Amino acid sequence: MDRYAIGVDIGTTSTKAILFDRNGTALKKAFEGYTILSPKPLFREMNPDTIADAVIHTIRKVMEDVPPDEVQLVSFSAMMHSLLAVDGNGRPLTNCMIWADGRSTAYARTFGESGEGLAIYQRTGTPCHPMSPLYKLMWLRDYQQEIFQKAAKFISIKEYLFYKFCGNYLVDASVASATGLYNLFTGNWDTEVLQLLGLKASRFSEVVSTTFRLPAVHGEMLAAMGLDAHTAFIAGGSDGCLANLGSGAVTNGTAAVTIGTSGAVRVCFDKPVTDSRGRVFCYVLSEDKYIVGGPINNGGIVYQWFRNTFGQEEQAHAESVGLKSYAYLDRYIEETPPGSHDLLFLPFLMGERAPYWNADMRGAFVGVTDAHTKKDFTRACIESVCYAINSVFQIVASLVGEIGQVHVDGGFTKNAECVHILCDVLNADLSVFENTESACFGAVILGWKSLGVISSLETRFDAADTVDTYQPREQNRACYDRLFHLYTQAVEGLLPVFEGFAKK
Ligand code: ADP
Repeated sequence: MDRYAIGVDIGTTSTKAILFDRNGTALKKAFEGYTILSPKPLFREMNPDTIADAVIHTIRKVMEDVPPDEVQLVSFSAMMHSLLAVDGNGRPLTNCMIWADGRSTAYARTFGESGEGLAIYQRTGTPCHPMSPLYKLMWLRDYQQEIFQKAAKFISIKEYLFYKFCGNYLVDASVASATGLYNLFTGNWDTEVLQLLGLKASRFSEVVSTTFRLPAVHGEMLAAMGLDAHTAFIAGGSDGCLANLGSGAVTNGTAAVTIGTSGAVRVCFDKPVTDSRGRVFCYVLSEDKYIVGGPINNGGIVYQWFRNTFGQEEQAHAESVGLKSYAYLDRYIEETPPGSHDLLFLPFLMGERAPYWNADMRGAFVGVTDAHTKKDFTRACIESVCYAINSVFQIVASLVGEIGQVHVDGGFTKNAECVHILCDVLNADLSVFENTESACFGAVILGWKSLGVISSLETRFDAADTVDTYQPREQNRACYDRLFHLYTQAVEGLLPVFEGFAKK
């Protein structure tokens, strides 16, 4: 009885459901993908019913051959910053705009320039950026006035799902805190922001804690998922915050660094904190845990771009002898000394989010001489990603105090030297974690806390064990401090050039 728990993660490209045992071991996984709709330039949307169906299907898939009475709970992680409008019967009036939707760029820019965006960020923790539902709502108000007037509620994808489950509009504080409308310090919708939009709080869901247990779920929904009425449905949180929780980075001063295609730094802190210059986010994990950090656009994609553009020969050679496509480039990294003979790369191939929040930024090699070889260029690319992470890391550290421990995950960790470079640049002890399903697991941990199975979110689980640990190499520290300083100067110096490119 009650041996299992299901964590569901509603992501940008797919929804995942995972069945865990009490040790946190993932026993069964199911996922269902969907496509992002882009009916106009900058528009990035999803059909909310496609996502709701994906949630139901993936839960049903992991429930195959599992007796319903053995599943104690289902708990939910969801992407941040999604927004849709629904009518009085809960029917969608819009598609679900996702975080990548850029239609409200002009609003975020105007609020950024006037300083009002910074003031709002300092109360809400959500950076002044078009991803924020606040600016998406301003766009709706001006461009879809009828819908804006008529909408009964403005909600995220998770609230849409919960309404289908139990007929109530409920938003967990974690998802709410990524809307730009939630005041971190009062724990509710921000009165001034609501006034600015001309909307009453009743047009939004009731804010509940991340451990909140949903009221009774409709019988037909339970049947569709293969569950019965005894299973608890827990609100859960947003994916970034739950990734920290699921990977055990939940004590003060413990950071989680993810470097996949893009990257992120997220540090847990026991109070809400915001930055005087609006460079990092602060989102809610629980009543006394907040996640402070920032996303970077250019993580592993830098290495991928370099391989595809300059490393095709190495890739073909590696693959022809049965090695991984990066194998020879990985060797170049090891064969080059720290600092790549004073070669810097600025990795902004995709513009940048934290800490610059500037879509016009571009990549650049700086310091090239005729002595530099392809090996230097390869290592410089990897070092550039570590500098980009460090630029967020240092700001977060200035807000929360010393960061002693860093948990790292993502594709970048496939190469031990890459992880060691990151360790040297950050000057912190690193642990690599294998748990790639941390958002789903984080949701389950909230569920266990809610039902009293565990007493603290800091409980350690066998299945989330460390794979490898790294300490900074003293002999590399001075080199990386000097180059990080030059990197920061190079970025600042090139900002007007990037602006010039953008003007055309
Ligand atoms: P996603 O963010 O799409 O989930 P992953 O966590 O799978 O991504 O990471 C993918 C990234 O991992 C790629 O962009 C790739 O450059 C990087 N990667 C793959 N192999 C290596 C390696 N040997 N060293 C460093 N980075 C690597």
